[in-house]
Amino acid sequence: MSFNSLGLSNALLKAVSKQGYTTPSPIQQKAIPLILEGKDILASAQTGTGKTAGFTLPMLQKLSQGQQLRLRPIKALVLTPTRELAAQVYNNVKAYSEFLDIRSAVIFGGVNQRPQVATIRNGVDILIATPGRLIDLQNQGLLSLSKIEILVLDEADRMLDMGFLRDIKKIISLMPTRRQNLLFSATFSKEIKKLANEFLHHPVLVEATPEKLTVDAIEQKVYRVAKGLKTGLIIKLISDGNWKQVLVFTRTKHGANRLCKKMVSAGISASAIHGNKSQGARTKALAGFKNNSVRILVATDIAARGLDIPLLPHVVNFELPNISEDYVHRIGRTGRAGASGEAVSLVSADETEFLRDIEKLVGLEIPVEIVEGFEPDPNASTKPIKQGQGGRRRSQKSNKPRSQSSRRSNDSGNSGNNRNANRNKNRRRNNRR
Ligand code: AMP
Repeated sequence: MSFNSLGLSNALLKAVSKQGYTTPSPIQQKAIPLILEGKDILASAQTGTGKTAGFTLPMLQKLSQGQQLRLRPIKALVLTPTRELAAQVYNNVKAYSEFLDIRSAVIFGGVNQRPQVATIRNGVDILIATPGRLIDLQNQGLLSLSKIEILVLDEADRMLDMGFLRDIKKIISLMPTRRQNLLFSATFSKEIKKLANEFLHHPVLVEATPEKLTVDAIEQKVYRVAKGLKTGLIIKLISDGNWKQVLVFTRTKHGANRLCKKMVSAGISASAIHGNKSQGARTKALAGFKNNSVRILVATDIAARGLDIPLLPHVVNFELPNISEDYVHRIGRTGRAGASGEAVSLVSADETEFLRDIEKLVGLEIPVEIVEGFEPDPNASTKPIKQGQGGRRRSQKSNKPRSQSSRRSNDSGNSGNNRNANRNKNRRRNNRR
């Protein structure tokens, strides 16, 4: 199938061809015609499937066919969980709309709102936003959602994980009820289905490549190792293998900082990316990693979610995630678009149970190796790391909104003055990630 048969305008086909895309990805083949027809969709797709073009191309086509009003109210809103994803979607929207008279803007927290407000004042057709900053500006009367025709919830599962349910509901309440809704989510949890039931209008279910296929394309390996020897082992693997571009996952922000410092001391260029870093530092770290001036990017799950790092050859789980689905998201950063990739996990005794859960989810036994001098500790306890020691159990995730102040320490926008009794507890939990 080619892009020509999807019913897209010449201006869009030209932009697509400028990006070098020749064939629409499975999610694009399925979603584009449905969105053009005006259907609501509930799509299961994660980063790397081409989902952004999947919703952006038909959205641009629809908006560019509409009448151009002089005042240009915001007609389409894309909500994303993180600043990085918002910036990335914005870049895609700009690239795909290059040959159209469509204006777009991106807003997120952590940076001065003034330039964002000025852009919106000039008139914007498509707004890409994180929920916190959007509500902030709306509360200040600086933007209106009353003319929204298309709403996209991108990585909706992660938005719920991050406690944005209440913000999402509030944002939706500010829009006209007659609109097209596109919900993208890597997983269809009970909560996602509930959200879909509440806000989508007879949605068509669209499923892209199942997660397991992504996993199959990636060579996975486990190194059993004593906890205290992990840093030495990762430095050895990177140096001996002469790995040039490695994305490393840690469970906590502090763990990311610590590991990053040790890498730098060992003469390996590294940057950390997590929710405590300023927006400027995050953008700089990612840019350095993409242009190969930084060899190692150490990230937490939330910060890494949605990052588009093409053809990443190595992903290392310095610690296993205690939510098995996060493992699939992490290793999905490699082996994309048909390229081969390697995903390595350093597993200590207390992560044995997490490994078992992950193997159950991906449906395979991951080959295990032990490196001489970096053996596992036979006397270490296999009791899993508990919540409160940097852990996060699925059963303890809640859809209750976090307080605004706790969210501020995380990866998205900020806003409001809501306070609740769990504030300090939540802040402690979120600050660890
Ligand atoms: P996404 O899943 O939207 O984050 O897209 C992942 C990557 O695939 C991005 O770098 C896109 O530029 C790229 N991409 C999107 N659609 C296509 C396509 N049809 N052919 C090749 N690459 C694509």
